[in-house]
Amino acid sequence: KGRIVKALSGYYYVRPEEETGEAGSAPAVQCRARGIFKKRGVSPLVGDAVLYSLTENGEGVVDELLPRRSELIRPPVANVDLAVLVFSVTEPALNLQLLDKFLVHIEHAGIQPVLVLSKGDLELEGAEAAEAKKAADLVRTLYTNIGYEVYGTSSRKGQGIEALKERLQGHLAVFAGQSGVGKSSLLNALVPGLALETNEISSKLGRGKHTTRHVELVDVAGAYVADTPGFSQLDFQELGIEDLSYGFIEMRELAPDCKFRGCTHVHEPGCAVLAGVESGKVARSRHDHYLQFLAEMKEKKRRY
Ligand code: GDP
Ligand code: ZN
Repeated sequence: KGRIVKALSGYYYVRPEEETGEAGSAPAVQCRARGIFKKRGVSPLVGDAVLYSLTENGEGVVDELLPRRSELIRPPVANVDLAVLVFSVTEPALNLQLLDKFLVHIEHAGIQPVLVLSKGDLELEGAEAAEAKKAADLVRTLYTNIGYEVYGTSSRKGQGIEALKERLQGHLAVFAGQSGVGKSSLLNALVPGLALETNEISSKLGRGKHTTRHVELVDVAGAYVADTPGFSQLDFQELGIEDLSYGFIEMRELAPDCKFRGCTHVHEPGCAVLAGVESGKVARSRHDHYLQFLAEMKEKKRRY
């Protein structure tokens, strides 16, 4: 049994796996895929758990794909079960609407999100510092209250890295978040020797990061982590209106108690979600974002 950690030029690189599904320490075996996959129109993906056999020349053959639990399109990775959603309070400034948008997409993909507040070392002064602290506290309270885990890190000072590493163990994770929040720096801090380009380096070289790179799973002490960020495209194209409230976990919980089936939680009488907003169970900022996304979806549908 093994795990495809890289795909390149028709080859699949398979890491042997223990019975438990944990990343083994043996090096990856270069494999071809059996012709049968092509015939069936399925192609193996990075992240697939496979059965493979060794051939005489030290290479291998992927014989069978084991069932997938999830399938991401960007980056193309199977079996992702954890999304590390990175955001910072400053540089770039905290954008709660974007944070909620990422959460909707991650929830919709059936992946468990874990929030990371990055750049904890940034030393601000005066009013800016007070404001940043207020924003950080607000985020912690808001998202912890609805059941999300919030980690604090500093890649520069190595803070919070071990705790995050522990959380990743046994999972296949993808990092997500706005550009510039410190995803690459965090991956570099987690994986010694990884040396992904971060923003300042790539601007010196005059080219963007993640240009033509192929996604690869890197090993973080018993976890697999995709070295390319996920959920980079956040439009609501393939989402329906019901999917939208599903993406807000505290609203998802209340929605079955709404008086009307198909309630959109906007102004319907007997709406349990609106009652939740009134009683404080649902944060007003979250419901506001829900309404904004709903309007965005309706506008798109009207135009196309
Ligand atoms: P990405 O676009 O999310 O991958 O972000 P990068 O990892 O490329 O980082 C963007 C910028 O934030 C770079 O200038 C980094 O040096 C800076 N940065 C990343 N992590 C930290 C951190 O922990 N502390 C500080 N002060 N800056 C950081
Ligand atoms: Zn409702």
